[in-house]
Amino acid sequence: VIDFGVPDRTVLTTCAYCGVGCSFKAELKGDQVVRMVPYKDGKANHGHSCVKGRFAFGYATHPDRITKPMIRDAITDPWREVSWEEAIGFAADRLKAAQAQYGRKSIGAITSSRCTAEEIWVVQKLVRTAFANNNVDTCARVCHSPTGYGLKQTYGTSAGTQDFDSVMEADVILVIGANPTDAHPVFASQMKRRLRQGAKLIVADPRMIDLVRSPHIEAAYHLPLLPGTNVALINAMAHVIATEGLLDETFIKERCDLPSYAEWLDFIRGEENAPENVAAVTGVPAEDIRVAARLYATGGNAAIYYGLGVTEHSQGSTMVMGMANLAMATGNIGRRGVGVNPLRGQNNVQGSCDMGSFPHELPDYRPVSDDAVRKVFEDAWGVSMDAEPGYRIPNMFDEACAGTYKGMYIQGEDVAQSDPNTKHVEAALSALDILIVQDLFLNETARFAHVFLPGTSFLEKDGTFINAERRVNRVRPAMKEKTGKAEWQVTQELAQALGYPMHYENAAQIMDEIAQLAPSFANVSFEMLDRVGSVQWPCNDAAPEGTPIMHVDGFVRGKGQFVTTEYVPTEEKTNRKFPLILTTGRILSQYNVGAQTRRTHNVDWWEEDVLEIHPSDAEMRGVREGQWVSVRSRKGETVVRAKLSDRMQPGVVYTTFHHPETGANVITTELSDWATSCPEYKVTAVEVAPANHK
Ligand code: SF4
Repeated sequence: VIDFGVPDRTVLTTCAYCGVGCSFKAELKGDQVVRMVPYKDGKANHGHSCVKGRFAFGYATHPDRITKPMIRDAITDPWREVSWEEAIGFAADRLKAAQAQYGRKSIGAITSSRCTAEEIWVVQKLVRTAFANNNVDTCARVCHSPTGYGLKQTYGTSAGTQDFDSVMEADVILVIGANPTDAHPVFASQMKRRLRQGAKLIVADPRMIDLVRSPHIEAAYHLPLLPGTNVALINAMAHVIATEGLLDETFIKERCDLPSYAEWLDFIRGEENAPENVAAVTGVPAEDIRVAARLYATGGNAAIYYGLGVTEHSQGSTMVMGMANLAMATGNIGRRGVGVNPLRGQNNVQGSCDMGSFPHELPDYRPVSDDAVRKVFEDAWGVSMDAEPGYRIPNMFDEACAGTYKGMYIQGEDVAQSDPNTKHVEAALSALDILIVQDLFLNETARFAHVFLPGTSFLEKDGTFINAERRVNRVRPAMKEKTGKAEWQVTQELAQALGYPMHYENAAQIMDEIAQLAPSFANVSFEMLDRVGSVQWPCNDAAPEGTPIMHVDGFVRGKGQFVTTEYVPTEEKTNRKFPLILTTGRILSQYNVGAQTRRTHNVDWWEEDVLEIHPSDAEMRGVREGQWVSVRSRKGETVVRAKLSDRMQPGVVYTTFHHPETGANVITTELSDWATSCPEYKVTAVEVAPANHK
């Protein structure tokens, strides 16, 4: 029994983990958080929480925290603790030297979806002003960048269409490439409540995820497709709807772009999209596809929820547009209970995209190449800005390996563990003249850094996180920064050391600038959020109360755009040497690369990554439950324990990526989404064999 003691104060704030964005009251005794209590009036969680938000906060005060800035001349040297002034001066001198020798575009930055919108805003502004280029990208590059692209092309806005509560009016819930029970637990509970009331469930996923087996669900259909065949499946469902007279012609005529619709209709009716011709590709029986398609089109309000099993594919953007087509074709958009809803992974992945940390887009998704847009920012920031898009994260690594990209500022992302093809990432980081890492812990990426700028945990931050339903939630400091500085202050001082005058006095002033320059946030301020709790953007004069449901009377882009979504198989092929397909995901108690959850008691629930494998695949290879196995791909090899599981289908294996010792990304490939370069984490051809302990 743990005696937490009686708290002497509480601070209302937002969970630092997933994109649900649960509100909590942090209860403190002195400077120690003793309890995180889910907040009953939290608009995303209504008083609920999961084991991460509730219990996994101890990392904030873990002894591994680095609280003093450190520098070193070479990555083989030991770290030296220095003052903030010396660390920032050292970083600025090296960045200037890199630009002097290799040119203006030889340096850049990566923003973190773990940080507040305000902290992210300041980093992208630093790049556009002090760095004088557009080499800024976000860790959303490796998760939901296809969502941003696909929904903007079809609907006009790079964001999900609904609020979470809207699921309570859905009659059919289609979950594709997502495992909400583990990854978005509080929303999964809400979804299950609706399913227990009688809504019908369709799950398209290579694994038999827990949702399919949830008790008291009236109807649950599982389409166990092969990884990499999402687009073939969604096209086949659309084919059934288009050829069986199930289209919503009225909605299409009134709301959609008719030439694009005619082109799409011609394509989708083609025999190549018929379920009978797609069954062999997807592994899903034709009749099951037909039943699911009819249910989606005729079962009442139909809502799509999806995750990284959609986006992290070479056709991630195509699949997002395929789902958008399906919703438009059946009129399932623009009211409660319907829509196309990305389940965002990180707490502020929506915000990191909204804040303009993209190499081709300024805040609020406006192109850097547009002279009028640039002028707005040039006038506000007093600089002349580059019209040419900068490097995406994979370009940064490629250019670094080529010797033309020399300096990098990484805010709270462990690219050496989280990005695909680890060997290539490590080679790129090793080639930099200056790598600045801003983080809580000496992570894997810091092995290659010259400057370490200690970051702050969510319990020390003042700002906002923006969740998967576009909800701007306040994050309030429960304790003083253990580093002595807010992260935005550190970035600001780096800008000043580089010669750009940046002078915010607090995070509220940064939000005021966001409101001034990003029309979707025009009416948002800390004062307003403290008064109303939270708000969903757009929140401006046209929508002063915010916008729970998008595209109600018309699409943001005007008419909804159908896009022809031809299925193109991935280049990652199985063969006799690599006969299995590996796909990846996460578990309830752990979070992403585990930098936080591994430093909490949540490790007691799950201490290591394992490989889930179907018993028949295991038997063929002489693999027993709990045995160490080698997982080998064309890129590399790792060793994990085997877990025999009938949730897997034969031919497909699965692992998580929470522990650096496993290093799942040692084996993933450099293949990526054609439109956004989002890595194809979800399809890797592998072989599995018994192995000795590492
Ligand atoms: Fe935090 Fe997500 Fe769990 Fe809510 S569901 S407590 S936001 S991890």
